[in-house]
Amino acid sequence: MGGREVGDPYEDARRAMVALIERYGVRDRRVLDAMLEVPRHLFVPEEQRRRAYEDHPLPIECGQTISQPYIVALMSELMELRGGERVLEVGTGSGYQAAVLSLLAAEVYGVEYRRELFERVKTRLAEAGYGDVHLRCGDGYWGWPEAAPFDAVMITCGAPRVPEPLIEQLKTGGRIVLPLGRPPHSLSLVRFRKTSRGLVKDSRGAVSFVPMRGRVERPPEEK
Ligand code: SAH
Repeated sequence: MGGREVGDPYEDARRAMVALIERYGVRDRRVLDAMLEVPRHLFVPEEQRRRAYEDHPLPIECGQTISQPYIVALMSELMELRGGERVLEVGTGSGYQAAVLSLLAAEVYGVEYRRELFERVKTRLAEAGYGDVHLRCGDGYWGWPEAAPFDAVMITCGAPRVPEPLIEQLKTGGRIVLPLGRPPHSLSLVRFRKTSRGLVKDSRGAVSFVPMRGRVERPPEEK
């Protein structure tokens, strides 16, 4: 699988991007290889293509962003994927992270809130050769109950708390990786592991992300 073009003019840039990510400390070889393979330039708007392999986030449509390559790598590594897993991504945006995940796991389910981005990402993933990613438009707060349970869940928008349905849809032993806190800047990259005694948290430093919209913006329901 994969959308590598013949005579891809971005191959050297992509190699340099991955070398930088490796220097920053990402060790998971499967993650590095996936990022060597996915043509990131196909996931950004035309006018951003020449910047696609620089290590920053870039604007995509609807005022949203495609995450910085290093953060994509780090979040992917934190998912601890070995190839057989079923994973959920909340906030599919450009589709780049979903394409990377599709090379790391057996099945990827992506939920995107904004209709315009959803329509675009469907076409974009299919054209780039990642048409096996399952996509849905809606509020990712509710997860994807029909496809649950998941081995790992990634949320790529900033949220003040982990949505309860996503915890329920995770297997015991599963991971949830997300920017947790007050968007856009008071967020830390966090991984929760679901154990038989509840969630175990591991924090990995400050990050910036666009906010998660929808149900999570309202207070939690009383129990
Ligand atoms: N992973 C994306 C990053 C996109 S930015 C990529 O690789 O390009 C975050 C995305 O989260 C935006 O597209 C935004 O529309 C989406 N989003 C925000 N709130 C959401 C919600 N409640 N459910 C699903 N997607 C959401």
